[in-house]
Amino acid sequence: MINQIKQLLALQQHDLRQQELEKELVRLPEELAGLRQDIIELEGFLKKEIENLDEVESWKRTHEETLAEEEDRIQKRMQAIDQVQSAKEYVALQKDLDSIRKRVRDHETEVLSLMESVEKRRAEVDKRQAEIADFQKVLKQREEIFSKKVEEINSELKLLLVDRAKLVSTIDKVWFRKYDFLAKRRFPPVAKAENNNCLGCNMGIPPQMFNQLYDMKEMMQCPHCTRILYIEGTVVS
Ligand SMILES: [Zn+2]
Repeated sequence: MINQIKQLLALQQHDLRQQELEKELVRLPEELAGLRQDIIELEGFLKKEIENLDEVESWKRTHEETLAEEEDRIQKRMQAIDQVQSAKEYVALQKDLDSIRKRVRDHETEVLSLMESVEKRRAEVDKRQAEIADFQKVLKQREEIFSKKVEEINSELKLLLVDRAKLVSTIDKVWFRKYDFLAKRRFPPVAKAENNNCLGCNMGIPPQMFNQLYDMKEMMQCPHCTRILYIEGTVVS
């Protein structure tokens, strides 16, 4: 019987490994999908930031054009002043010049502030593009690593399946059926018993039963969770 428990524990190890690998096969593509989603989100931010930058740049251009027009107007007024005929005309031209000069200063201030804004936004766009490039690099690396991992997992799973069949053929049919039945309901189906406790469900087992586990004349199951029980010391060879 001790031998049967040992075989069941070996089978349980196999099944545990198989479950781990199967979980990994689900987790790896999920991780890649998460990363791809992050990139899509960042690209969305970048698109908005570029639109923002374009808008500010267009504003800046409009002000620069108006500024050029006003400066041109100043040149024309200056030429007109050179050819002025009367004091009245001179005063009117000077007044006009003053108001154009004031508008020029206002546009200059605006252009300077928009320049700053453009620089700031351009830096944000550059930073975002670098961030996306980093994410894409990480994604590419992981895709390569993961596809290799998936290959390894699949070949290990294939080997496990062959090994498992061999192992199952050495196990008593009644024991195996019980193991299989339990494994589908509560994994792991074989649990260690320690200090009058089943470590599968952490509930107490009767002392008499615990003592019988040392002899292991028959299969013993936890009265609470029905897991197949064994005592560590008895399976150490
Ligand atoms: Zn139990």
